Amino acid sequence: MKNLIVNIAKKRFQDATSQIVHFVDNDEANAILNDLDKYPHAYVLACLMDRQIKAERAWGIPYEIFKEIGSFEMCDLEKIELLDLKSIFNAKKLHRFNDKMAEVFHAGIFDIQKQYAGNAANIWKGKPSSSAVVYRFLKFKGSGIKISTMATNILARQFRVPFSDFYSIDISPDVHIIRVMKRMGLVPSNANNDMIIYKARELYPEFPGIIDFSCWEIGRTWCKPRNPLCDNCIAKSECEKII
Ligand code: SF4
Repeated sequence: MKNLIVNIAKKRFQDATSQIVHFVDNDEANAILNDLDKYPHAYVLACLMDRQIKAERAWGIPYEIFKEIGSFEMCDLEKIELLDLKSIFNAKKLHRFNDKMAEVFHAGIFDIQKQYAGNAANIWKGKPSSSAVVYRFLKFKGSGIKISTMATNILARQFRVPFSDFYSIDISPDVHIIRVMKRMGLVPSNANNDMIIYKARELYPEFPGIIDFSCWEIGRTWCKPRNPLCDNCIAKSECEKII
């Protein structure tokens, strides 16, 4: 039974309070991304940008746009024309796909305004089910299941937003999680992301995404890409050490 990583994750989840999440290497940008009361749209728009470029670059995009227009408020964001947004994306080379992601950003602002009365926090207000929130993220232009479950998972795990359940919050297979699950022998070395997602569901169906907690911590602290520190690792008793 591979229960250790589930137990580590459950303990971390129980012990954790709402945390400041270090999305980017910029204190002001992090403060805005973490302020779900005042700037929930910054969090949502950053999630929508997190595609096909490094996460840190993607998460910094709303801040760059806000700086450019001189405001972090939705009432000012709503006034930006798509052409102007494309100009900003291209001039500042914000993304690998500047025109396309400017459209996603613009549509995101429009949807927050139209569907959620200009307050993105309405997406997760009122202790909704995890499936409802994943579904609401899926409705945004450019948001697939990966972005939608990641966005919901961060809300639940890090920001401690209340949900009525966590069943639909899947693991988000990043490099640490993939490496740890393969080395531990939880999945074969040729496993694809779908296999990793379903293994996490098998390990803890009530909240598969919680396993992000333990795999990420193990991956960052001990299970490094080179020279893993197995002797000190908290997972060593259940790890097959397939390195
Ligand atoms: S015991 Fe070694 S291989 Fe296994 S997770 Fe820990 S560091 Fe990685």
